[in-house]
Amino acid sequence: MIRRLFLTVTWLTSLVLILLGSCFVVCFAPSAKAEVIRNSTIAEMISKIDQKDIYNTVYTLQNFTTRRFGTSGNAQSAVYLYDRLESIPKLSVEYQSDANNIIATLPGVNPTSNIIYIVGAHYDCGVPDSTFAPGATDDGGGVAIVLELAKIMSQYSYDHTIKFAFWNAEETSDDASLAYAKQAYENKMNISLYFNYDSACYDPNDNLVLDIISNGQSQWASEIATECNTVYNIGFKLTYNVHSCSGDAGSFQMYGYPTIFTHQETHDVQHTVNDTIDKVSTVFAQKNGQLGMAVLAYLAEVRSHTTTPNSAPTPIPSSTTLLTPTSTYNPNSTLTPSPMPTELSEASSAIAAVGVIVITSTVILLFKRQKR
Ligand SMILES: [Zn+2]
Repeated sequence: MIRRLFLTVTWLTSLVLILLGSCFVVCFAPSAKAEVIRNSTIAEMISKIDQKDIYNTVYTLQNFTTRRFGTSGNAQSAVYLYDRLESIPKLSVEYQSDANNIIATLPGVNPTSNIIYIVGAHYDCGVPDSTFAPGATDDGGGVAIVLELAKIMSQYSYDHTIKFAFWNAEETSDDASLAYAKQAYENKMNISLYFNYDSACYDPNDNLVLDIISNGQSQWASEIATECNTVYNIGFKLTYNVHSCSGDAGSFQMYGYPTIFTHQETHDVQHTVNDTIDKVSTVFAQKNGQLGMAVLAYLAEVRSHTTTPNSAPTPIPSSTTLLTPTSTYNPNSTLTPSPMPTELSEASSAIAAVGVIVITSTVILLFKRQKR
C-alpha cells in the first residue's frame, strides 16, 4: 500500500514539476507583441507635420466647388494633386487607371527588397443632388495628410518602397482603387500594408478619439499603431473596429492585402454642403498623420537622416536609433495569427500556478492521511 502510494506521489510530483516548468515558460517567454522603441529619426519626422499646410490643402480642394467623379472640378483637383506630388524631390508620379488615380513612388534603398507600403486617400467627393460638394473632412483632410506624409517622408530613406496614392471615384462606388489593387495582385506586387486615410479629421468636441479599423490580416499593424501612439506621445484615445467602413481599404482586402484604416470618432457633415474647411480639426489631422507616418517609417525601416549627397555610405544607425528587430511577427505574412494579449497569458499563468498549489496540497494531505 505504502509502495503504491509512493509511486502515485512520485508520478504526481513529476506532473507538478512539468506544470511548474510550463508555467515558467509562459510567464517569462518574450511577448509575441511587436515592440516599438522610440526612434529619434521618426520623432523628428513626425514633428514636421504642419497644421497650416493641412489647412491650405483642404481649403484649395474645397474651392474646386465639387470634386465629384466626372466633373471638371474633379479633373482640376487631379491636376493640382499631380503637380503637388511632382514638385516633391525623389518621387516619381503617374496617373493610374482610366479613373485617374494618382500614384507617387518613393523607391526603397535596399536593392534586395520588393516590399511595398502604400498610404492613400480618395480625392473625389460628392453631395447628392448638389453641384457644391466641398468634401473638406471627406476626404480633403485625408488627402492633405497623405500630401504631408509624401512631403516629409521623401526627405528620408527607407529599405522598402513607399507609395503615396490619391484614389478617385470612391464616393460613386466605382472604387477606382479596386483597379489598382487588381493590377497589383496580377503583377504580384508585394504590398505588406495598405494604410487608408478617410474621414480622418472631424473632431468637433476635441475628443481625440481615433478608431483603428483592421482586418484579420492586419492585427499586427493595429498593435504597432497602438504602440506608436504611446511611444511618440501622440495622445489619441484609441478604439478598435468601432466603425465598419472599408472604403478604399476594401479594394485591397478584396485582393488579400492587409489594411489599416484610421477613422474619426463620428460622422456628421460628410456628403453634405456643410462639409467645409471650418469642420476640419487640423490638430486631429496632424496627430492622425503622425500616427501613420510613425507606423510606415517603422515598417519601411527608415535610415538615419543623411544630409550630404555623395558622401560615404550611410552609417548604420546607433543602437538607440535602430529599429527593434521583430522576429516574432512577419509583416509580409498575410496569415499572421494575432498573438495572445499579455494580460491573457499572465492570467493563464496565475491559473496554472493556483492549480499546481492545489494539486500539491491534496497530494500531501492524502499522503499524511494514508500514513496515519
Ligand atoms: Zn470618404
